[in-house]
Amino acid sequence: MAQEGINAQLSVPELQSEAFRNYLDAVEPLQGIRLNRAVDDDGKSFWVLKIKVREKIVADGITDPAFDMRNKGKYVNAEQMNILMNDPDTIVVDMRNHYEYEVGHFVKAIEIPSDTFREQLPLAADMLKDKKEKNIIMYCTGGIRCEKASAYMLHNGFKNVFHLEGGIINYAQQVQEKGMASQFIGKNFVFDDRLGERITEDIIATCHQCGKPADTHVNCVNDGCHLLFIQCAECNQKYEGCCSSTCQEMIKLPVEEQKKSREGIDKGQHIFNKSKVRIRPGIK
Ligand SMILES: [Zn+2]
Ligand SMILES: [Zn+2]
Repeated sequence: MAQEGINAQLSVPELQSEAFRNYLDAVEPLQGIRLNRAVDDDGKSFWVLKIKVREKIVADGITDPAFDMRNKGKYVNAEQMNILMNDPDTIVVDMRNHYEYEVGHFVKAIEIPSDTFREQLPLAADMLKDKKEKNIIMYCTGGIRCEKASAYMLHNGFKNVFHLEGGIINYAQQVQEKGMASQFIGKNFVFDDRLGERITEDIIATCHQCGKPADTHVNCVNDGCHLLFIQCAECNQKYEGCCSSTCQEMIKLPVEEQKKSREGIDKGQHIFNKSKVRIRPGIK
């Protein structure tokens, strides 16, 4: 929750979904709020209630006082998105992180190679600076980031900026309901325990350990590591859920010894550093 709005995820039993919608509508500030329904559920999305209060819903690093969030791009739904993507004058921009793009994206989409949204905004404007007259369609997981990203592009002189309403989650839902062809291939990465919902059967990524086609994200089971990476089923068995043989040796040590070896080590941004290393070699 922040001054600028609310972004929430929750699991509701299907039976209760209408009652839930009615309840939200009875709370005045939440009337008509958009709900994106996920298409894939293995029953383990959310187990604990967490509420976080933040300065902003999405940290954007925008300091220009002239920036106006209300002046955002035009919404497109799944059908409009599919039509607009056929136009050769359309550029589709993925506003998510590298590890999300890696397992699934729109067929035509370009990636903005950065690990944070805050760095991504100026980079997107710069990469596309000669394309200000083109149609720019931006998308992200649930549509939240692009509310801002599309406003940022308009603020920077882009003329025709669109964004996918409700993001990939809503797109996938519409495609399924209307029996349309999905232009999004692979998996939609999500931040709950599922780490992704399958949209099409295409496997577009490879195992970070052996290079075989795979798109299952796992967190290294070594508590001192927790690296997020892609691992195939075979490597998962071979390395016992670890990212490396070093981590595999570590988990075999007594817990006390494991803790000792972690002392004084800053895990920092370690979780996603695989992507950083791959995008910009040399950065640790
Ligand atoms: Zn593998
Ligand atoms: Zn590890």
